[in-house]
Amino acid sequence: LERTTVQGSTPQDWDLFSIMSVSLSSQLSKALRQTYLSLPQGSQCMVTYIWIDVTGEELRCKTRTLKDEPQGLEGEESNSDMFLIPVRLFRDPFTLDPNKLVLCEVLNSSREPAETNRRRCCIQVMEKIKEHEIWFGMEQEYTLLGVDKRPFSWPTNGYPAPQGTFYIVESHYRACLYTGIKIGGTNAEVMPSQGEFQVGPCEGVEMGDQLWMSRFLLDRVCEDFGVIASLDPKSLKNWNGAGCHINVSTKSMREEGGLTHIKAAVEKLRNKHQEHISVYDPHDGQDNLRRLTGLHETASIHEFSSGVANRGASVRIPRHMAQEQRGYFEDRRPAANCDPYTVTCAIIRTCLVPEED
Ligand code: ADP
Ligand code: MN
Ligand code: MN
Ligand code: MN
Ligand code: MN
Repeated sequence: LERTTVQGSTPQDWDLFSIMSVSLSSQLSKALRQTYLSLPQGSQCMVTYIWIDVTGEELRCKTRTLKDEPQGLEGEESNSDMFLIPVRLFRDPFTLDPNKLVLCEVLNSSREPAETNRRRCCIQVMEKIKEHEIWFGMEQEYTLLGVDKRPFSWPTNGYPAPQGTFYIVESHYRACLYTGIKIGGTNAEVMPSQGEFQVGPCEGVEMGDQLWMSRFLLDRVCEDFGVIASLDPKSLKNWNGAGCHINVSTKSMREEGGLTHIKAAVEKLRNKHQEHISVYDPHDGQDNLRRLTGLHETASIHEFSSGVANRGASVRIPRHMAQEQRGYFEDRRPAANCDPYTVTCAIIRTCLVPEED
């Protein structure tokens, strides 16, 4: 670009420059990065600590060098005046073995859980109902945006060309497998540039740990490709929104005749609809107000509904569960940007923890 162009530029030009520089840098770095990554690192180990920041939606990270590969959850870190407590260790799919990604809980300066650290509370509730062997599976939907914040691959005017976002989807999938995420599959969504991947089944608090780590990988993969993964539950008004359906089963639901237990849980959820809506997105139900309209395979936010094989219900009992009289149910209300620790915790409280607790 000529310097004169830059001087006489408009805000629209600057948008264009930033798009060009991001897409350029995402191309450049690929070839260069490989050279550096193949340098030997001896016995030293890069450990990337990952934690949920003050927004409760975004992840942050920092990397440290350890003398040797860590064998377990060691090496507490700090950031500003907060403590980062390692809670789960994963392989690093970006810098490869022996390097690690470590999910952390955040404690404040007096070593109390930070406000956005919902994991601690989640563990306490899980502990009470351990004998139920609760399993969760979550379906994370997301929208890929270009750096212009429009859905990726959509032209400025009109509808997108039918070109895939497959590279990104496949790269994230492989990264999850390498890392040790229990990714179960992926699928494209109705809206172009929208995708879904499934994580689970995971028992108890592992659900939250795995889903947060899979979101970190998605962010990081997208950065490599010069796009942004948005978890906004409703990116475009007249298209499907993005949710994070949660599938739930206990030991007794999975056993013969388990459908009775599934139906009992659904009735308990019916009685606590508003309480659940208020924690199924990070803004007290405001995000889901845009998404749960009753259209586009959602139920209205204002009333609870349930049904067998009904994708327009708040809670669905998949058809083969009804046929086999056992299995799991699906709560379709959580928004794409929900905190899985809060959602799993709320479900357990409502469905399994006795009232007096
Ligand atoms: P959908 O038909 O709603 O699109 P998906 O195939 O996308 O369903 O997702 C199904 C989810 O159910 C997966 O996340 C999977 O881990 C989860 N799942 C499967 N079996 C169980 C189970 N027994 N308990 C809880 N979750 C389960
Ligand atoms: Mn600093
Ligand atoms: Mn699905
Ligand atoms: Mn979906
Ligand atoms: Mn679903």
